[in-house]
Order: sequence, then structure tokens, then C-alpha cells
Amino acid sequence: MASELEPEVQALDRSLLECSAEETAGKWLQATDLTREVYQHLAHYVPKIYCRGPNPFPQKEDMLAHQVLLGPMEWYLCGEDPELGFSKLEQTNKPSHLCGRVFKVGEPTYSCRDCAVDPTCVLCMECFLGSIHRDHRYRMTTSGGGGFCDCGDTEAWKEGPHCQKHELNTYETEEEEDPLVHLSEDVIARTYNIFAIMFQYAVEILTWEKESELPPDLEMIEKSDTYYCMLFNDEVHTYEQVIYTLQKAVNCTQKEAIGFATTVDRDGRRSVRYGEFQYCEQAKSIIVRNTSRQTKPLKVQVMHSSIVAHQNFGLKVLSWLGSIIGYSDGLRRILCQVGLQEGPDGENSSLVDRLMLSDSKLWKGARSVYHQLFMSSLLMDLKYKKLFAVRFAKNYQQLQRDFMEDDHERAVSVTALSVQFFTAPTLARMLITEENLMTIIIKTFMDHLRHRDVQGRFQFERYTALQAFKFRRVQSLILDLKYVLISKPTEWSDGLRQKFLEGFDAFLELLKCMQGMDPITRQVGQHIEMEPEWEAAFTLQMKLTHVISMIQDWCALDEKVLIEAYKKCLAVLTQCHGGFTDGEQPVTLSICGHSVETIRYCVSKEKVSIHLPVSRLLAGLHVLLSKSEVAYKFPELLPLIFVIFLYTQSELSPPMLIEHPLRCLVLCAQVHAGMWRRNGFSLVNQIYYYHNVKCRREMFDKDIVMLQTGVSMMDPNHFLMIMLSRFELYQIFSTPDYGKKISSETPHKDLVQQNNTLIEEMLYLIIMLVGERFSPGVGQVNATDEIKREIIHQLSIKPMAHSELVKSLPEDENKETGMESVIEAVAHFKKPGLTGRGMYELKPECAKEFNLYFYHFSRAEQSKAEEAQRKLKRQNKEDTALPPPVLPPFCPLFASLVNILQSDVMLLIMRTVLQWTVEHSGHIWSESMLQRVLHLIGMALQEEKQHLENVMEEHVITFTFTQKISKPGEAPNNSPSILAMLETLQNAPYLEVHKDMIKWILKTFNAIKKLRESSSTSPVAETEGTIMEESSRDKDKAERKRKAEIARLRREKIMAQMSEMQRHFIDENKELFQQTLELDSSVSAVLDNGPVVSDMTLTALGPAQTRVPEQRQCVTCILCQEEQEVNAESKAMVLAAFVQRSTVLSKDRSKFIQDPENYDPLFMHPDLSCGIHTGSCGHIMHAHCWQRYFDSVQAKEQRRQQRLRLHTSYDVENGEFLCPLCECLSNTVIPLLLPPRNVFHGRLNFSDQPNLTQWIRTISQQIKALQVLRKEESTPITASSKNLENMDELHLPEGFRPDFHPKNPYSESIKEMLATFGTATYKVGLKVHPNEEDPRVPIMCWSSCAYTIQSIERILSDEDKPLFGPLPCRLDDCLRSLTRFAGAHWTVVSLSVVQGHFCKLFASLVPGDNHRDLPCILDIDMFHLLVGLVLAFPSLQCQDFSGISLGTGDLHIFHLVTMAHIVQILLTSCTEKSGMDQENAAGKEEELAVLALCKMIQQYTGSALKEMPSGWHLWRNVKAGIMPFLRCSALFFHYLNGVPSPPEIQASGTSHFEHLCNYLSLPSNLLCLFQENKEIMKLLIESWCHNIEVKRYLEGERDAISYPRESNKLIDLPEDYSSLINQASNFSCPKSGGDKSRAPTMCLVCGTLLCSQSYCCQTELEGEDVGACTAHTYSCGSGVGIFLRVRECQVLFLAGKTKGCFYSPPYLDDYGETDQGLRRGNPLHLCRERFKKIQKLWHQHSITEEIGHAQEANQTLVGIDWQHL
Ligand SMILES: [Zn+2]
Ligand SMILES: [Zn+2]
Ligand SMILES: [Zn+2]
Ligand SMILES: [Zn+2]
Ligand SMILES: [Zn+2]
Ligand SMILES: [Zn+2]
Ligand SMILES: [Zn+2]
Repeated sequence: MASELEPEVQALDRSLLECSAEETAGKWLQATDLTREVYQHLAHYVPKIYCRGPNPFPQKEDMLAHQVLLGPMEWYLCGEDPELGFSKLEQTNKPSHLCGRVFKVGEPTYSCRDCAVDPTCVLCMECFLGSIHRDHRYRMTTSGGGGFCDCGDTEAWKEGPHCQKHELNTYETEEEEDPLVHLSEDVIARTYNIFAIMFQYAVEILTWEKESELPPDLEMIEKSDTYYCMLFNDEVHTYEQVIYTLQKAVNCTQKEAIGFATTVDRDGRRSVRYGEFQYCEQAKSIIVRNTSRQTKPLKVQVMHSSIVAHQNFGLKVLSWLGSIIGYSDGLRRILCQVGLQEGPDGENSSLVDRLMLSDSKLWKGARSVYHQLFMSSLLMDLKYKKLFAVRFAKNYQQLQRDFMEDDHERAVSVTALSVQFFTAPTLARMLITEENLMTIIIKTFMDHLRHRDVQGRFQFERYTALQAFKFRRVQSLILDLKYVLISKPTEWSDGLRQKFLEGFDAFLELLKCMQGMDPITRQVGQHIEMEPEWEAAFTLQMKLTHVISMIQDWCALDEKVLIEAYKKCLAVLTQCHGGFTDGEQPVTLSICGHSVETIRYCVSKEKVSIHLPVSRLLAGLHVLLSKSEVAYKFPELLPLIFVIFLYTQSELSPPMLIEHPLRCLVLCAQVHAGMWRRNGFSLVNQIYYYHNVKCRREMFDKDIVMLQTGVSMMDPNHFLMIMLSRFELYQIFSTPDYGKKISSETPHKDLVQQNNTLIEEMLYLIIMLVGERFSPGVGQVNATDEIKREIIHQLSIKPMAHSELVKSLPEDENKETGMESVIEAVAHFKKPGLTGRGMYELKPECAKEFNLYFYHFSRAEQSKAEEAQRKLKRQNKEDTALPPPVLPPFCPLFASLVNILQSDVMLLIMRTVLQWTVEHSGHIWSESMLQRVLHLIGMALQEEKQHLENVMEEHVITFTFTQKISKPGEAPNNSPSILAMLETLQNAPYLEVHKDMIKWILKTFNAIKKLRESSSTSPVAETEGTIMEESSRDKDKAERKRKAEIARLRREKIMAQMSEMQRHFIDENKELFQQTLELDSSVSAVLDNGPVVSDMTLTALGPAQTRVPEQRQCVTCILCQEEQEVNAESKAMVLAAFVQRSTVLSKDRSKFIQDPENYDPLFMHPDLSCGIHTGSCGHIMHAHCWQRYFDSVQAKEQRRQQRLRLHTSYDVENGEFLCPLCECLSNTVIPLLLPPRNVFHGRLNFSDQPNLTQWIRTISQQIKALQVLRKEESTPITASSKNLENMDELHLPEGFRPDFHPKNPYSESIKEMLATFGTATYKVGLKVHPNEEDPRVPIMCWSSCAYTIQSIERILSDEDKPLFGPLPCRLDDCLRSLTRFAGAHWTVVSLSVVQGHFCKLFASLVPGDNHRDLPCILDIDMFHLLVGLVLAFPSLQCQDFSGISLGTGDLHIFHLVTMAHIVQILLTSCTEKSGMDQENAAGKEEELAVLALCKMIQQYTGSALKEMPSGWHLWRNVKAGIMPFLRCSALFFHYLNGVPSPPEIQASGTSHFEHLCNYLSLPSNLLCLFQENKEIMKLLIESWCHNIEVKRYLEGERDAISYPRESNKLIDLPEDYSSLINQASNFSCPKSGGDKSRAPTMCLVCGTLLCSQSYCCQTELEGEDVGACTAHTYSCGSGVGIFLRVRECQVLFLAGKTKGCFYSPPYLDDYGETDQGLRRGNPLHLCRERFKKIQKLWHQHSITEEIGHAQEANQTLVGIDWQHL
């Protein structure tokens, strides 16, 4: 179909291109009915341009639309060439002082914590950097899209509203002038005309609902009948469902379906089929049928193509309008006028209204276009913003109703614009006063929550999914309410007062529906069957918390409002609980001669609710009243209020006020006592949230305040009796001798335990009522004191990080805790180290303010804090009493509260508990009970002391606690006085812990007595008491000293025992202690530095190799614990090992193995693009023990997978397992061997060895012979006799016996392990199926050995560590076994295969006849070549009986490769010219030699080398270039031959060039090598240089690696994290045409930005869909990747498709903390040390291991779909 249309499109183009914009505009200017003209034009052209077929061509459409449709309008508007016209407009326009930049998704935004009016005020990056706020405390977030920069909005900022760019000029005033004055009348008129027509057109067509019919004035005469099947977006169906359905319905590929789905998700709709009506209808019905089964079907419409065309153009018009008004504020104003002008249908008929009201019917793309237009027009014009706000408020209810039915997120709903008006203080206030907005919002909210119980309370039980969905939507209304209230009025008008109170009424209505909701009844007998719904109610409470607080803040600002609100609240509370005594018989309680009437009510038997928002609001208002000036200035007015409201107008009395909060607190106590266990977790959760920092401010805290209010208005004895009764403890305390009775009756133990807990809880509650006076209004404190106290108590538990502390403190509506302003006063900051975070520590002087019974402590926190504080005191050698702190005085309204401490009932409770303690019998007594009573006594004493200290003259002190506790109890008990009992108890042996506290009480008591006496003017004599006290103090001191001494001795003994034990432990677990994970560990490897070799020069190879006497090596198997000697004949011992591909050293990341089946790995390219790394944890096992272990792991895993279908952190099918000791990820094992060459020990001693030239000749002959033989074998003339004949004909080199096959010296078990590791290396390295026979197996083994050595050499050199310094054991063990393994591996491979490799490798340096296409020396990594040659050489040497030793071969190979490397270095480094001056003139031997060599090379290369650098310079280059090679070679021969390293190289410092040369049998003037072997070298150098590639390189046609290769580093990261965010926000998905990526992720290895975790960028890898990151790891890191997820500020490690973990990012805030997920938004800065640590993990090839450990530690990581990231 597309092809049919193609010519038509072409033809149309021509006719369209002929249409002139200027002419059309001219016609329009003449027109009488402009609307008709324009519409006809549109009717004719729009369908010709838009939607010409199944696939959109956006660029072409735009181009044509601009030419034919928009062009004329611009001409018309300007009356001249728009290019001229618009630039004129721009020039006359005054630059705007508003930024208004609309944020893209993911763009960084900044909010100043000091100056922003509320947290919704944000700046774009540019404005922020040019503002004063960059030096303030700021918060950084990434935008979710939508919203704009508030720079220039004077209402948004307390200070610095303008950035440099948007600053007001001095002569300008902020007074607004009419922007239209800058435009000519003509332009105004024409603009008005064209805007009105086009805006109208766009609105009409976008809100058009018919599917196959156009509006009449757009109908065409000739109409082609083509349709679109249009698929719309919803939030119900998943991507997968849509993709699946589309494939079925429109018969497309998966890829196309993904494309459709992505567009639908982004734009909100996409046509999925084009053609005739039936054809489209058919697709529609399939889609509907397929998706209706699960939920409601996907929305699909079959639309006439011309409608779609006009709609597309309609959108284009809106964006066009948006861009046109950018030229001039005047044009913008005209557009606003047009938009808000009332239409013909009166109210709500303006274009703006029409768009808003059809918002929920529009698709996503259309919405975002018109929202953007609104933002750039109406919201940028202050005059019209106000009018728009009014329209918005008027439509508010309808818009919210639509939103409730809408199935799109709030971000794409017009309701989300509320933040733009409601947070602007003047607008908000205007809307409240004029539009009654507060009431409207609350009423709308109530309308949507219709489920009520019989009492009219909300009921969330049995909520359906749909209702729950709606409930979530409704919550956005609370957010709106919060916005409206967020800025508090500075002045109140009567109108505002009235409307606010009206809103307050509505709010009370709302709270009333919450008062008592979700009531619960204690479950006895059976456990509840179903956990009741509780979350909805708590969500509501939680969301409202800030609103409730803000409403109180508003009330506090105006006394009239406060008093009115108080009255209203009281009235509503009366309505709630007025009738609650109905039918109840009152009951009379009496104790100590006091009696009170109360109702019969048992929390444990009747209904109780945690939700009491009305009571709590009243408590809040009461505190405000107490704080207000009325309370201070006219306290006499207050009783009046109370008398009036409490006793006459309402039925509420103080006992009624406290009733419900008290029940709630009793409920908590009972839950704690275990009485509500059968009510399940829902209750536990509710109690948790009730106390939680998110809710407590408007729940628990206010209940305490309400009780405090109650006590201060009642007789405390009455209060306590009611409390006892509610706690169901009245019986216990009103019965004399209850304790004795109980113990004689021996009742149910649980019940006693329960009662004990309840008593403890009740005492705790009394402590809180008296002690919690840190809210301003309750006590005489300010807000700072309150927050300080919170922090002190948090830090009393332990030192805390900034974020931990923030989490533990309540946030206000601006997300502030107020912590920063006070933290310095109470804490010290300690900076973080390499891990961990910065910590705040409590200042020691603040410890005295510690209150053990701080009401915000959880139980666990309380006991931790107690322990910590006692420990501190012990450290300071103080007594361990934790007495109550000195408290601030109460406010007058609460002042009488303290009398509760000296009330008769309180004293009775104290006395009773002490009595029980003294008796110390039976069960009814607990230490915590006593501790609390002691605390209460302490509080009372503190109180009395303060009263005495602050007493004014002639005031009578009514607080006489000391007198009361000195009196004995009354009849009938006749118990001793409280004081007497305390004196008795101070020596009780069972109260050791509390002794210090009792002593403190007695001491304070005496001090008070003294104070009283001194104030009563009588001269005070030293009383006996004080003397006694004095002497007792001395005694005390002595006693304590003695005890301390005993304790010290005991400690020492224990320490001695422990260190003994430790030694044993270390001996027994040596392996465990040897494994150190860090390279820089101090553990040194001492294995090789045996005492045998002493002073001689050590030589690692060659005939002069130092002989090391054989040492027996015994190792222990970690599995069976048996010891075993390592030698060739015994059972194999193996090391757990992990083989992985690596690109860590790669110099060319674009290269990777394309065709692994045919890839030839024999020569490693010097770019080291894909190596194989072997690592090991160093743990040794028997081969058979390991085999058994691995089999069992495999079996277990298979069973587990069948059962659970779970992944593990390791992939058993790929041979992975965890080291049984350290759980390190492994995938094979390396056998442990002795130096393999010593196996041929007998043949090592030769004299009269050939020199290099002779040796090369011999080897060449041998190779030639072998090649002839090979040829013979491959031409099958058969018969072995024939072979022998030929051999004679060959003239075999002397002593060469190619038919000889040496005997394999290794045991079967070792041979098996040699094959196992070899196969594993081959399998992993090439990613192919294991094949023991493949000739590439030995190559992979050598290659891995070479690569691993190279990578370790790099690490050591990067860290400036000595080559043979203390290497961690696991590295040492790994390198030793790996090298020796590689040296022995040839014994299990066919001899001819290894010989073949040797020949080819050899031929690359010494050209033979048979090898043509070998790489040139520029393209060979010399160290890999060396390792290959040395390790393959024995295969040839074993057949040589001529007397050439293996050592000689090694030496000559090494020398030959070294020389080749020198030539390589000279070839690649001579071209660069160093500007450095040479130190001394040429003359040194080396310099002359190197110059000579260079000249020779020049000669052979045809003097292509340009200028000749100095000899000094050349020699320096050679030395530097060859160093890594020499160091690697030293490591290699050291491990291969077991020759200890010379002590000089073990120390760090100088480069050790000469020592290295000695150790490696090299002359320290390397050039001597060339001179000694002049003739042959001449030939060889000539052959190396006569190479086409060398020529091409020298002529600049290709590149080559130069030496030394620099170490790879991770990319450079910016210092400031926000510049990364900015960078990422500019990054768009490379696949979906300019769309912003949702999860931009940066590869830290190469810096590429990727579009991660998204369908658009999934690709197929080995038959599976993988995300962009996984795909990238395969090309950039051969399976391993290190990324930074920019939006999350999180480091991501990936390995393979199934493994991954998150790692802490190298960015820290000022408090030394990371911010994963960017939740806190503090400015972040790069921490270089941490970034280095990540780089080190990478260099060490530890990423996979790190992932393994992370996954083992956190199983949830295993479940993540890493491959889709
Ligand atoms: Zn800005
Ligand atoms: Zn600005
Ligand atoms: Zn600021
Ligand atoms: Zn074993
Ligand atoms: Zn291990
Ligand atoms: Zn990369
Ligand atoms: Zn993408």
C-alpha cells in the first residue's frame, strides 16, 4: 500500500511547494470574512500535508506545514516578511524578568533551603549558578518533567529572586507596564485576528469527538476514504500486553510492535493500521477482544484520516503559538486575552476553559502540548495568571472529578498545574478569600470519600481495587490543600478570617469523619481470621499530618481566629463524644480519702480507636492558647473561656477531654503487655506508626498534651484514680497488702507478669506527663530547645550520620527539621574515612540533659541509650546513676501539673512499689517498676529543689515533696516512710544496679533539706546527716577503688586467656588468616625466601640459573583437613580459581572476537584488546575432594531450581561454584605443581652450549625436519616403514629424534586437572563449548598466564609497589600455580600440536619458508610471545638429544624476544620528539650503541624515519619502554623456575633496572645483545623491517601501539555531581528520535552514555533481549561493566547477563554521606579516594567477585533482572 501512495505524495509536493505564503497572506488581508478564508485554506491543505499513509513522516510534514499553512499566518501577522517582522518585535520587547524555563525530564533543579518560600520554588541550573543561592544551603533534585524555573518570581524567594541574567535594571521598577504599548495598532489587530482564529481552530479540532466526520466548515468536497486504527495509552496495560496484542492484531513483527508501544506510551496514541474502514475495524476488534479479558480493554478508535490530519496540525498550531509569543510580551498578552475571553456560551466557554474541561478526554501528547502553552503564556503574564487562577479555581471541582475517572498519571493531568497558583502567596490568599478555595478543596475531597459507617465515620474496610486506586488519586487534593496553606498570611483581612474559619469548619467536618474510625476490639480466645484494613486510614492521617500542623500555625497567627477555632473544635468534639455516657452507670472510685466518679469502661473489653484527630487538634490549639499573649497578659480571661466552654456550653469536662487519648495510651500499654496478641499484625503496625516520627507529632505527642491539659485542670488525685481504673490496675492499688495476698495465692504467672508490665507502663506515662515540657506552650521553651533535646537524645543512643539524624526527626511541610541551626551546639562532627560516613557525636557537656525516659525513644532505643550512657559514666569514672535532668518550668496554664508528683495517690503508688521491693518476695515486683519509681522520686526532688532555688521573697512554697516522703504511711498499713524504705534499699544486694540512683536520691534529699533550712533563715549547723554523708562518701570512694582494682586484675587475666586462645585459633586456621583481600596488606610472602640460597647473585633462567635445593611442600586440604605433599606422582591438589575474559588492559575497546569458532589466538596484539585473567582466593583442596564438593553443589542446585526456580549468585551450569571456605566466586581449579622444569632435572646440566646464532640455526633445522615430516604424514602413502626411510633421507639434525615420545611424569590425577583447567580457560576465553582436543587449548593457557602477569605488573607499578615486595598470599599462590600449570600443560597435549605452535611463534621472529601470513612485529605483544615460546619449547627440546639444554633455549628465546621488543620500541617511539634537554652529551656506551642500532633500522626501513633524536633520548625511551616487559619476565621466570627474587627488587623505590637485568641474565647495556650476535641480528632486523605493515606505519598510513603502554583509568568525573545530571539530561535516547532517556547511565570505563532500563534500547544478544548496559558490557568490557546510574547516583556493577549489584557512588555530601537515589538532595562532590577504590576493583579484576559477595549477602539482589538494565 505504501508503494502505491508514493507517487501521489510526490505529485502533491509539487503543487504544495508552489503555494506562496506571501500571496495567501495578501489574500487574507483583503478578506471580509477572515475566518472563512482561513478555514477554507486549512480544509484544502491540511489533509494534503498530514497523514499520507501508514507511517508518519514528521520532518516532511513539518516542512510543508510551515511553508503552506503557518507561513501565511506569520506573513499576515507581521504584514511583512516574518523574518524581519519578528526580529523587530524582538528588539522592541523588554527582556523578561521571569525565566520560566520548562524543565525536561531528568534536568537538575535547585531549591534554596534558606530563601525559597516553599520547596516547590526551584531554579534551573543556569539561573542557580548565577544567583546568590549557590552559596546558601541548597537542595538539588532531578525534575520529573513539567514545572518551570521560578527565577524572577519575587513571591517565590525571600531573598535574591533574580539571577544575574534576569536581574532588574536599576531604573526599572517592579511596577508592571502594559506590554501592548510597544506594539503598533495594526499588529495588535492582526495578531488578535489570527490568534483568535487559530486558537479556536486548535481547540475545536482537538476536542472534536466524532470519529469519521469533520466540523462542517472544515469538510472537504472531494474526500478520500482512508482511516486510521488509533491505539491509545492507558495505565492499566503493561508494555508486554500491548506488544503481544499488537503482534496478533495487526500482524507486525515484535520490533514494530515495540515501536508502536513506545510511541503510544510517549505520545499517548499511535495509529497501528491505515487503510479502508473495514480493514481498520478488524484490527480494532481483535485488540479489544484480546485485552478485555484481564481488565478493561485498550482504547482503540477507527478515525477518518482527515480528522487525524487536522488534529496533528492542531497540535502544531499550539506549539507554533507558543513559539510566536516568545518574540514579544505583547503577543503573549494578546494570546492570553484570546484564550480567556468568554465564548458565546457564557460561563466556562473560553478557550482555556474548554481545553481544561476536556483534559481527561485528550491523549497524552495533546495534553502536554497545551499544558506547555499555558505555562509559557498564561503563567508568564502576571495579570493573566491571576485570571487563569480564578478560572482554575472555579472549575476545580469538575477538574478533580474528571481526574478521578481519568486513567493517566497526575503529571499529565491539568490538575497538576495547581502547584503553580496555590503556592503563590498572594494568589492563594486571593483564591481563599474570593473563591473560598480552602472550603472547595476540602469539600471536593470529602465528596470523593463516600464510604462511611453508621456513625458517619470513614470506612475503608473491604476496599476494592478500584476504590483504592481512587483513594490514591484523592490524596492529591490533600497536596493542593497543603500548597494553599504553605505560606502563612502576614496580615489578616476580615474576609480572610471569615473564609479561613469557613474552611476550618469544613476541615473539622473531615476530622470528625476520622475521629474514632477503624475501631478495634480485643480478640480473646481465637486469633483473628483476617487482618483488618488499616493502611488506608493511616495513609490519610499521615498525608494530613502537615495540613493539621499548618492549620494550627495559621490559627496561631491571629488571636481572634485562634479563639474562634478553639470554640469550633470544642463544639465538634462535643458532638463526637457528647453522648458517650448514655446508658452507662457511673462508678465511684476512692483512694486515700479522695473519691471521683467515672464511667465503667474497659479498654480490653470494648471498642477503642487510635484515630482521634479532633481531640488532638484541640490539644494543639490549647497549647497555642497557652503560648499566646492572652495567656500571659490576661490570664484571668482564660478561666473564663474554660468555664464557659467546658462547663456550660458543652458537656465536656476535663475527665471527658482526657478519656479518649487515655484509652489510646492504655491500648498501647496493653499491647506491650501482650494482651492483644490475637489481634495480629495490623494492630502492631498501627501502634508502630502512632509513635513513628512521621505521625507522632499529630498523634502520640498530642495525646500526651491532652492528658497534661487534663491533669492541669483537675485534682491530680482524681486524675490518677481514673488512670488506674483505665489501666485496669485500680484493684491492685486500692487493696491494702495486695502484694502479700498475691504471693500467698500464687495466681497465674502470666497475669502477674501482665500486671507488672501495665504498672511499669503507667509509671512511664506519669513520667512523660510531668517530664515532657519541651513543646513551646507547654513548657517555657522555644522551638530551638525542643529540637536540641531531640538531637541530644538521638545522639545519646550512638553517634549518627547526618541522614540518620534527619530521619529520626520530624520534618515540617518544607521538609526541614531545623537541625542544622542547632547541631553545632550539641554535637561534634567526625569526618568519614574511605568507607562509611561522617558522624555526629554528642558533646560531653550535653550528657547531663539526658533523660532515660525520653518519650520518643522506642524500647530498643531506650535500652541502648541506657547502656551507652552508663558505659560513658563508667569510662569517666563517675557513678552510674542516670538521674532525671533539670527541667524548664511549665507555662502558667500547665503549672499545676507538677502537683501530681506530691499527690496522695502518687505517694501511695510510690510507697506500694517500694514496699514490694523491700519485701522482695513473690512475683509482684520488677526492677523496671522500681527504676521508674526512683525516677519519679528524682523528678519530684529536682522540682522541689528548683522551686526553692528560684523562690521569690515571701512566696510560700507549696511543693513539699521532701516532707511528705519523710512521713510514715498511715494506718492501717503503718508502713515506714518512703525515705526510710529507700535507706533500707540502698544496701540491698539484689539492687546493685540501682544503688547509685538511690544514693543520688538520698544525697539530693539532704541537699534540699539544707536549702530549706538556709532559706528559713535559721543558721545552719553542720548536721549529723551531712557528716554521715561525708564519711559515707569517703567509704564509698575507697570501696569503689578496691572494686576497680579487682576488676582490673580480672580483666588482665581474661585478656591473657584470650590472647592465648587467639594464638591457637590462628595456628589452627592459618589458611583463613592468610587470605587477605587487599593488595596493600602487610602480610608478606615468605615461602620462597628460604635460607638455602644466600649471598650469590640470583639468576632466574638460562644455564647459569641459580640452583635451588628442592623443598618439600606440604599443604592442607580445606575440605578434609588432611595434609598432602605436592609432587608429580601424588594425588593432585588444586586451588579454587576464577577465569574471566578481560579488557582491563585493552587499548582498543572497539575490538572483540567476532567469530570465536575460527578465531586464532596464537598471537596477542599489543593493544591487548581481549585477554583472559585468572584469579584465585588461594584456597587449596584435594582434586577429588573438590570434585565431590562440586558434584554435590550441582545436585543441590538442580533440586533447588526445580523447586523454587530461583537464581543463585553463581551459575552452576557454567561450572561456577563458591569456594567452600571463603565463598569467593570460582569457575575452575588450578593444580598445584613444583617447578615443571625440575622434572627434567637430570638433563639440566650441560656444558658447551651453543650461542644464539648456532642455536637459531639448529632450531631452524629441527623445525624444517618436522615440517617435512608433517607433510609426509598428511600425504597418506601409508606404512610406517616409509616414514623411517624418509627420515634418513632428511639428514636429520644431529641428535634429533622426532619419533621419540617422552613419558609423562605426572600422576593420572594431576593430568586430569591439567586438562580440566586448560579446558576451562579455553571455554571461558573463547566462549565456546569445551573441547579438550582443540589445538587452541594450550594457547589459551599460555595467554592467560601472560595476561594475568601483565595485569598484576600494572597494578604494582601504578601503585609504586616493588615487584617482589610483599604480595598478598592469594596473588602469590595464584601466579605460582598458574605459571607452573602453563609450563606443564604441554604434557597433556599432542606433541605435534605444541610443536606446530612453537614453529609458528618462532617463525614470527626467525622467518622460515612455510609461514607467510604472520603478523609483523608491530602487531605482536612480545611478552605473550615470550611466554608462548618458552612454554612450547619443551615439546621440541624433548626430542633433542644433541646436548642443548632447556635452559639454553629459554635464555636464547628470551634474548631474541627482548631484542625484537627493543626494535619494536625504537620503531614506534623515535618519531616523537621530546623537548627535554639531554642531561649530558652523548658518549655513554649505551647511547652510542642505540644510535647505531637506530641507524641500522633506518637503513632497512629505507630511511623513512625522519629526524634522528639524540642517543640519550633514544636510550631513555628504550629503558622506559622495555621496563614493563622486563618486570613481567622477571615475575614469569621467578614463578616458573622457583628462583628466589634478589632482595634488592623486594624493596620499593628506584626502578631496579640493573638488578632486573642481572636476575634475567641480561647485560645491563641491552644493546650488547645486538653486538654479540651481530650477523644474525642484521639479517633478522632486516627481515622485521622489510615488512609492508612497518612501511605503512612509517608512512603514517596506520597506527601502532607505542611503549610503555599507559595504564587504563576510569573516566574523569566532574567535581560537582549536578554537572553530571545536567549532562545526562541533555542526553536523549539514541533510538527513539530525540526522546529523553529515562535512566541515563554512564559507562565509567569509556564514558559512553546509555539509555538503560528501557524497551527502546533493548537489543538482542545471543538470542536474548538485553538492555543497553548489558549489551555495552559485551563490547566494552567483555561481559563486565562498571556504570554510574546518573539519576540514582548509584554505581552499577554488571557481569554477564545474570549478575549485578549496586555499589556506593564516589560522591559525598558535606556530611560525608552518599545519596543513592538522590533522595536527600544535598549537594554532592566527588570523593577521589572512593573513586580510586572502584578503579582498583576494576584493575584487580574483582568486579565479578564483588558482585558475588554482594549477592550472597543480600539475596534480593539475585532476583533483579540485571540483563534488562
Ligand atoms: Zn531559570
Ligand atoms: Zn534567572
Ligand atoms: Zn538562598
Ligand atoms: Zn581433601
Ligand atoms: Zn577461598
Ligand atoms: Zn564502556
Ligand atoms: Zn532508549
